[in-house]
Amino acid sequence: MEEKTVFYRDTWAEIDLDALYSNISQIREHLPRNTNIFAAVKANAYGHGVIQTAKTVLAAGVHGLAVAFLDEALTIREAGITAPILVLGATRAADAGVAAVHNISLTVFQIDWIKEAEKVVPLGHALRVHIKCDTGMGRIGVTKEDDLREIDVLLRQSNRFIWDGIFTHFATADQLDEAYYNKQLSRFKYFLNCLKMHPPYIHAANSAAALCHSDSLFNTARIGIAMYGLTPSDEIKDLLPFTRKEVFSLHTKIVHVKKLQAGEKVGYGADYTASEDEWIATIPIGYADGWIRKLRGFKVIADGEMVPIVGKICMDQTMLKLPKKMPIGTQVTLIGKQKNHFNSVDDVAKKLETINYEITCTITNRVPRVYKRQGIV
Ligand SMILES: *Cc1c(COP(=O)(O)O)cnc(C)c1O
Repeated sequence: MEEKTVFYRDTWAEIDLDALYSNISQIREHLPRNTNIFAAVKANAYGHGVIQTAKTVLAAGVHGLAVAFLDEALTIREAGITAPILVLGATRAADAGVAAVHNISLTVFQIDWIKEAEKVVPLGHALRVHIKCDTGMGRIGVTKEDDLREIDVLLRQSNRFIWDGIFTHFATADQLDEAYYNKQLSRFKYFLNCLKMHPPYIHAANSAAALCHSDSLFNTARIGIAMYGLTPSDEIKDLLPFTRKEVFSLHTKIVHVKKLQAGEKVGYGADYTASEDEWIATIPIGYADGWIRKLRGFKVIADGEMVPIVGKICMDQTMLKLPKKMPIGTQVTLIGKQKNHFNSVDDVAKKLETINYEITCTITNRVPRVYKRQGIV
């Protein structure tokens, strides 16, 4: 990704790389010492900026990186990062050669795919693969043990492949009820028992499983949300072994302030009416930045005070109702801490009736990411 440092717009996401480093350190302390961590940096590192995030978590001791698509892995390689990378999603068999040449591991789960991929991996190269088992997520993965046995044979017989790992993914690791989790775990163990040999990396845990279920670890964990300082779900918040520090915050500055008289209107549809004389501010962020219209009414922090969004959120601008006149240039924090107030990513998620994962991911690339790095990194 571009590392632009000069911006002509007063809206930015601040990425606290020290917090990221410290979250990883705490996770590593919590896990058994020999656990490999693959840090999930898909989707531009959940919106945090993939290259800076990748460099920081590798410096903090993670073993490798996990992304969803081959394109994401190639972006990381282009930045000169040589750590192991696993593509968790499905890749076209025709693109296996590209992955092999860049030493990128792919997820495999179809017999025909393996036969086709074998033909396109160039001579002198081998493709690293992890077998995905579907133990109950119902998304991608091998579901039948006969298929697993056949894939096991295909991979061992061919010098076009390096069989690096086997994994599964939990559907309910972030819920208190463990029944379905346990069902998936025993199915995975059954799959492992069907194999003639075990590859080096065996993994099942995402953040929730790694932090709450030590029996999910095998020798590797795939950590995403927790390293960004966010909780996998409200339900398990109190079970987590350490406090996480949120890495992502979102800020802007007031570009215009005016006094409306009672009866005057704000925004498209003119559907907000000042009920008395009111100070209204405009901030340069809107739904094209991922600050979506449903956030109308949400309170952001201006000059240390909670102020509500009024009127319809526009594509590029949003209006606030201030308790008093504030100068142009006043910093407004939409997500994060300012003076005595804190808007967590979870607060925004709650307002939008969704999960914290979706919030940082959907702040668009138009919002520059500014990296804060003071201490350890
Ligand atoms: C994204 C992802 C993870 C990381 O999950 P978190 O809940 O963010 O820790 C792990 N495994 C797979 C297959 C994923 O797609």
